[in-house]
Amino acid sequence: MRRLLLWGAQNRWLATHVPRWRFAQRAVRRFLPGEGFESALKAAVDFRKHNIGALFTLLGENVTDLTDANQVVEHYEEVLAGSRDLQAEISVKPTQLGLDIDEAAAFANLQRLAGAAAEANSFLWIDMEGSAYTDRTLDLYRRLRRHRSDIGVALQAYLYRTVSDIAGLLPLKPAIRLVKGAYAEPQEIAFTAKRDVDANYLALSVFMLPELKRRNLRLVLATHDVDLVAKIWRFGQALEMDRSELEVAMLYGIRTDEQLRLAREGFTVRDLIAYGDAWYGWYLRRLAERPANVWFVARQLLP
Ligand SMILES: Cc1cc2nc3c(=O)[nH]c(=O)nc-3n(C[C@H](O)[C@H](O)[C@H](O)COP(=O)(O)OP(=O)(O)OC[C@H]3O[C@@H](n4cnc5c(N)ncnc54)[C@H](O)[C@@H]3O)c2cc1C
Repeated sequence: MRRLLLWGAQNRWLATHVPRWRFAQRAVRRFLPGEGFESALKAAVDFRKHNIGALFTLLGENVTDLTDANQVVEHYEEVLAGSRDLQAEISVKPTQLGLDIDEAAAFANLQRLAGAAAEANSFLWIDMEGSAYTDRTLDLYRRLRRHRSDIGVALQAYLYRTVSDIAGLLPLKPAIRLVKGAYAEPQEIAFTAKRDVDANYLALSVFMLPELKRRNLRLVLATHDVDLVAKIWRFGQALEMDRSELEVAMLYGIRTDEQLRLAREGFTVRDLIAYGDAWYGWYLRRLAERPANVWFVARQLLP
């Protein structure tokens, strides 16, 4: 089921047709407060009351025209200027900024966004896409990190290479958002069994905790796996860390009760709020993460 859904995420015919289907539009609302930024802003204001920060992301990837990439940058510049009081952060995909078309243009766009984020006292995160982009994404990050401190990158625990990528980034005092990984990757380069991915996630986190404690890095555990977070926290306690030093991020609409609990207990929590109309590929990846979600979609077909 996971493979089928991830195949569907890249199918052009489905990408054109599914977003027009009413039941699909109804089903996606579970993970999006709405398509417009105002809905995302309202959700962020509500989360703020519970001491949960926001991470905004405008959906979209693999743009084929640099004018579209420029519009994305302009949109985020407005978002950053308009949400200063919320201390919200933003997260972008390099292919949404033109990486498929022109790497130099994507770099210039990231530079512009990093500047706008710094000016708004915010933070820019770079999403990690499929493995075809890992080297180029890390290269963009390294080049940006030389000039900017308020910028971070997502790394995927399912890739064997991630331990070496982390070791290579540590001298830069990086900001790393550790995720399990959302794309279909072959077993030559990635763990395919969930228990192996989970074990690597734990090992990588524990490897980074002492650096976090020494303030040599910012680490965000981007996962809904609260058992894994609890295990990592046991190591944090052994290092006499404060709960607020452990940052956890989850997606809007998933395990909201756990986000609230973690924030109440004193952990630093952020909710990634996605919005926009280009939700198709992103939404299929959410279904693939938990195929039981497909039944939720099927129920939307009922009157
Ligand atoms: C803030 C954030 C940023 C991310 N950024 C990236 C990125 O840049 N690149 C990338 O490849 N991936 C990214 N991801 C996705 C990530 O790689 C995983 O695919 C996703 O988080 C599911 O794995 P999990 O860690 O939650 O663990 P899992 O073991 O998959 O899930 C743990 C539990 O959480 C619940 N859960 C998880 N996913 C869902 C879902 N979709 N619907 C309902 N319940 C669910 C279930 O109860 C499940 O048992 C991001 C995830 C988060 C939270």
